[in-house]
Amino acid sequence: MLKVNAYAAPSATEPLEPITIERRDVGPTDVLIAIRYAGVCHSDIHTVRGEWGPITYPQVVGHEIVGEVVEVGAEVTKHAVGDRVGVGCMVDSCRECENCKAGMENYCLKGNTQTYASVDRDGTITQGGYSTHVVVDEDFVLRVPESIPYEAAAPLLCAGITTYSPLARWNAGPGKQVAVVGMGGLGHMAVKIAATMGAEVTVLSRTLAKREDALAFGATAHLSTADDATFEALADRFDLIVNTVSAPLELDRYLSLLRLDGTMVNVGAPPQPLPLHVFTLFNNRRSFAGSSIGSIAETQEMLDFCAEHGIAPEVELISADKINDAYERVLSSDVRYRFVIDTATL
Ligand code: NAP
Ligand code: ZN
Ligand code: ZN
Repeated sequence: MLKVNAYAAPSATEPLEPITIERRDVGPTDVLIAIRYAGVCHSDIHTVRGEWGPITYPQVVGHEIVGEVVEVGAEVTKHAVGDRVGVGCMVDSCRECENCKAGMENYCLKGNTQTYASVDRDGTITQGGYSTHVVVDEDFVLRVPESIPYEAAAPLLCAGITTYSPLARWNAGPGKQVAVVGMGGLGHMAVKIAATMGAEVTVLSRTLAKREDALAFGATAHLSTADDATFEALADRFDLIVNTVSAPLELDRYLSLLRLDGTMVNVGAPPQPLPLHVFTLFNNRRSFAGSSIGSIAETQEMLDFCAEHGIAPEVELISADKINDAYERVLSSDVRYRFVIDTATL
């Protein structure tokens, strides 16, 4: 067992605080990673505050992890000491179900083992990336290309793959009109990736405060959802809408922006059920879909795509003791566009 420093939530209502946790011994197929940077995802906040259901405390969160391999198990072949690596939202899956066999561990029928707040093989609760080290099975460890700046690589492991996956699946590309709803951590990656894929990208944001940034990230338009004229002007326009908003939206208003056979994909994860009117789907034969992170192979593809095209998230580096302030700033959309913890400060 390795004792390591971390930051944990002691309960749903108290601030995160320093803690020491134990990492398991490095098994034959495990990799020990010295974490350098950990991104702060809105899912971390939903989780520690119990918004998605009760969890066990204390809980360390963080599933945008990059670092360096410092030890490998005897049977490890994919990674070596000194490699730059990443870990995203999953650390294991059943590997036997139909979806795992098809290479889509993120849709494991038995539920994949999440990087935090999941029951691990040994019955313990997984603890996430706001810590100095983590032990992960080699199959769930990604290679981080050298050309991606270390600290900027972290958010790709969740925000990057969660937006890349639906954009690739629903063919964002030349000739396609794509809207991104909400421009936070996920949203700003969706804009960069969709624009790089060749789509024409419109950002739908509550205010116009992020307009200049949206255009710099590759969008051709940025409109306010507070203005009813936005919905009139964009009716029947989009092939694909990626909704990254962390709170409930009036779905019908957004669905009505889809053209014939258009799809709105929800990646934002508010805990509440969202009502919609089926007649909005009948018009233009629209689809409403969900998408959950991406597979390991697809995550590697996304990292290589970002390296090839020079795509990197906009990050604000923080020390670990600023994590509670960072949470408040995420909640008030005052983040440009992802907080990343420098784990040297843990
Ligand atoms: P974030 O940085 O807080 O961004 C969310 C954005 O949504 C905000 O920047 C804001 O954009 C908009 N927004 C927030 N509250 C809103 C409200 N009440 N009404 C309308 N718009 C609002 O969060 P994130 O880290 O990108 O995560 C976004 C969501 O995706 C979270 O629910 C997270 O749990 C979920 N998620 C899902 C997956 C998956 O696999 N499906 C993976 C990762 C995260 P504007 O300021 O531009 O309006
Ligand atoms: Zn996340
Ligand atoms: Zn499975």
